[in-house]
Amino acid sequence: MYPREFDYVAPASLDEAFGALGDDSKVMSGGMSLLPLMKMRLFSPATVVDIGRIPGLDAIEDSGDHISVGALVRHADTATSDLIKANAAALATAASLTGDVQVRNRGTTCGSLAHADVAADQPAAVIALGATMFAQSASGTREIAASDFFVDAMTSALRSDEILTGIRFPKAGPGEGSAYDKLGRRGGRSDYAVAGVAAWVKKSNGSIEDARVAVTGVGTKPTLAAGVAEALIGSDGSDAAVKSAAEKAIDGITVLEDLYGSVEYKSHLAKVYVARAVKAALANAG
Ligand SMILES: Cc1cc2nc3c(=O)[nH]c(=O)nc-3n(C[C@H](O)[C@H](O)[C@H](O)COP(=O)(O)OP(=O)(O)OC[C@H]3O[C@@H](n4cnc5c(N)ncnc54)[C@H](O)[C@@H]3O)c2cc1C
Repeated sequence: MYPREFDYVAPASLDEAFGALGDDSKVMSGGMSLLPLMKMRLFSPATVVDIGRIPGLDAIEDSGDHISVGALVRHADTATSDLIKANAAALATAASLTGDVQVRNRGTTCGSLAHADVAADQPAAVIALGATMFAQSASGTREIAASDFFVDAMTSALRSDEILTGIRFPKAGPGEGSAYDKLGRRGGRSDYAVAGVAAWVKKSNGSIEDARVAVTGVGTKPTLAAGVAEALIGSDGSDAAVKSAAEKAIDGITVLEDLYGSVEYKSHLAKVYVARAVKAALANAG
């Protein structure tokens, strides 16, 4: 299938890119989701603004107490970065389980976040990690909390004149750990999540002092499972406490039936994967 005709622009700087963006344009990073959607004619932008050649956007940086991931960092880099593996296992794992090797070598972490697919892996991870997203335009930069960034199916809080130039999340402190796990559409952990869960916990003096858990694949957007975190905080993190907290996996989430399962099945999976991800995060927290 062929896309409709469009203009292709490859700016050499962010300023040039902002100049090329308009109401009928699309940013392209790795093109792994944009191009198939254009070929299916679900998106037909007048202009594609390919940011892939803009220098300075492809770094994973240690900024003291935070880690920054630039717009052009590819899934494969996120998955294999020692810095991310040590401080944000949920994101490294989610990136390692995104698509196949070709997709991971071309697609970008920020592209996946901006795309905001209901069943994508990395959105859940950045929500659980408490990440901040940087939405830059000609008029400045907005900081958006990851938990506010995913608005609806394939809809993020980005405006059409903005580029997601990077994200930032805190480094893991003492007693903190995170994890991601999913059931993929092709069974096992491959392909988009039928249900996927990212968990971040902070342990202190034998109990859970803080927690964030996010669920993807089951509703209209990757979402914080606030009830799970509430139930975990103050608990001893025992298997019984985790199982009981996991019962709240879908509180406040409208679970949708789709080709991959009924509401009942996906609700059950969300609980199973909340328990798995929280246990793995607790183990990673040491
Ligand atoms: C075969 C296949 C299997 C896949 N499997 C999975 C999977 O298992 N799990 C999963 O989560 N995903 C999966 N995906 C989706 C894919 O990994 C990501 O959606 C994709 O890599 C997005 O990154 P990109 O850089 O390619 O973005 P692009 O395709 O370039 O862009 C995607 C969308 O985001 C916008 N965009 C991109 N970058 C920016 C930016 N910096 N600022 C503003 N807007 C931006 C674009 O305008 C477009 O709307 C799969 C894709 C394919 C083709």
